Formats: sequence, C-alpha cells, structure tokens
Amino acid sequence: MIAVSRCLIGENCTYAGKNNLCKEIKELYDQGLALPLCPEVLGGLPIPRTSCEVTGEKVIDQKGIDRTKEYTQGAKIALDKCLEKNIKIAVLKAKSPSCGKNHIYDGTFSHQLVEGDGIFVQMLKEKGIAVYSENEVTEVLKLINGGK
Ligand code: SF4
Repeated sequence: MIAVSRCLIGENCTYAGKNNLCKEIKELYDQGLALPLCPEVLGGLPIPRTSCEVTGEKVIDQKGIDRTKEYTQGAKIALDKCLEKNIKIAVLKAKSPSCGKNHIYDGTFSHQLVEGDGIFVQMLKEKGIAVYSENEVTEVLKLINGGK
C-alpha cells in the first residue's frame, strides 16, 4: 500500500474543485494498492477554496488569511493515517503547498517556484517515508513490481 494525493485518483478536491487524474495512480487505487489522502480537506478546508502558498513557516491564502493551522492539522491527520497503515512510499502532486516535493510556489502567487516541500511532504520526510511526485510514477511502479 502506498499513499497518494487524492486529486491524483481523479477526485475533485483541488482548491479549484478540479482533479489531477494520473491514470497509473488511479489503476493502483482500483487494485486496492493506494490510500488517497487530501491533507487540505482533512484540515477542514472546503472545496473549492482560496489558493494558498507557503511563505516561510506559514501558509497564507491569496486573500492574505493565515491557513497554517488548517494545513498543519490536515497534514498531521494524513500522516497518522500513513503511520497506521505502515506506509513507506507516497506519490504526491507536484508543486502543491501541501503535497509538493522539492519545489513549491514562492508565496507571491506569481507562479515562481522555489526549493522547498509542502507541509505534508515535510512531515512525511521527517518520518522517513519516501516521497515521489506523479512525474516519477514509473519509478514507483518499478519499485512496487520489484517488491512482489
Ligand atoms: S492537498 Fe494534495 S491531495 Fe489535496 S488537492 Fe492539493 S495536491 Fe491534491
């Protein structure tokens, strides 16, 4: 079992009420091999919602409202679900302020990327869970198949 961003299985849970369907991830989910999680919704944020970006230690929405609490709480709930299932691998949506790995938007809402991890990814990495983006799904499929 791996953890995946819920929007990658085609669920309309993004801030815009859309999804980021990734066919390979959806297939893993259909086979019962993927646990879909949306930390932002788990943190109590609605669909749709105002987009947010990470700024330093905080998460601020485009209207200037501090959403750090919701992001942190949701990521903790999602992390606990991963730990309960003894998950070691996660495939998460690139660039998201929750799910983005290595590169996220810079907090200015101007589509500029900076080095850094989303809030959920930071927590997963602290627990030693390997994080991949959907762009690396082929690599993950090889790992899973090699482990059979
Ligand atoms: S928080 Fe993660 S799972 Fe939820 S919509 Fe954003 S990228 Fe997808």
